[in-house]
Amino acid sequence: MEFQRTIAEPVEISGEGIFSGREIRVVLEPAAPGQGILFIREDIKTEIPVNIFTVQGLEGATAVIGKDGAVFLIEHLLSALHGLKIDNLTVRVWGEELPIFDGSSSVWVRKIQEAGYRYDYVPRKKLRIKEPFEYVNGKGKLYFKPASSFRVHAEINFDHPLIGIQRFSLEINPLEYVKKISFARTFGFRDSILQKMEKGILKGGSLENAIVLDEKGILNKEGLRAEDEFVRHKVLDIVGDMYALGAPLVGEIFSYCSNHRLHIEALRALYYNGMLEEVEPGHINIKFFVIPHKRAFGA
Ligand SMILES: [Zn+2]
Repeated sequence: MEFQRTIAEPVEISGEGIFSGREIRVVLEPAAPGQGILFIREDIKTEIPVNIFTVQGLEGATAVIGKDGAVFLIEHLLSALHGLKIDNLTVRVWGEELPIFDGSSSVWVRKIQEAGYRYDYVPRKKLRIKEPFEYVNGKGKLYFKPASSFRVHAEINFDHPLIGIQRFSLEINPLEYVKKISFARTFGFRDSILQKMEKGILKGGSLENAIVLDEKGILNKEGLRAEDEFVRHKVLDIVGDMYALGAPLVGEIFSYCSNHRLHIEALRALYYNGMLEEVEPGHINIKFFVIPHKRAFGA
């Protein structure tokens, strides 16, 4: 049986918001079992819990939207929390978005590891995929399949000499998540980034917080962290968006050219079609072997 966990002590961190260009302060705090992930906008004093009704997949980001406010760009923190098996956490944020850091989830991972873990002796609540289910929207597709663990398979296809078709598959557990996924940065194309900057949608953003591509290659001096960093980041985003369920997922996901909007739409479709059920705690792992009394003593 797995128990719910949170972090052992509060940690504070600040970084640039890619949309606002402002410095954003965040405090991660331990939370009680059963709470889940809760955002508190400290600047406007409003609370927004993470669940399938509050999370929205937007173009290029995922947000949690309450009645009195929102927090944008939550997907990389959610990814770290899903990957590291953090069930309960309070996220205090002074602003409308989370910092982008280097465009991956490694800063969040480091911060959580620095805080350490606390277990509460309450079984983890998990959601299992009951039956195969497909969700298609335009060019993108997600396919869900029942499985005994959480596995993600992703395929992306960009007409660019450095990307093309890339595929990556991984069974998600904390060790594999940190080693193979957490470092992968988000990426964007220079022309569309410049357009968004001109429109004032992106006030932050630089070569420090994303891989930036032109027609031929990348503009970042340090190069790629892995040849297939692009598809690894897609897996990072999927792990994060799936945590919008408010509980860890047990099942296998196949993604073809998917994006944030598709991920969250697909989760809602799963939910409304009754394709999810709670895994009974301890049901699979605990076995009793009963030896008939008489035979055990050779009678
Ligand atoms: Zn991302």
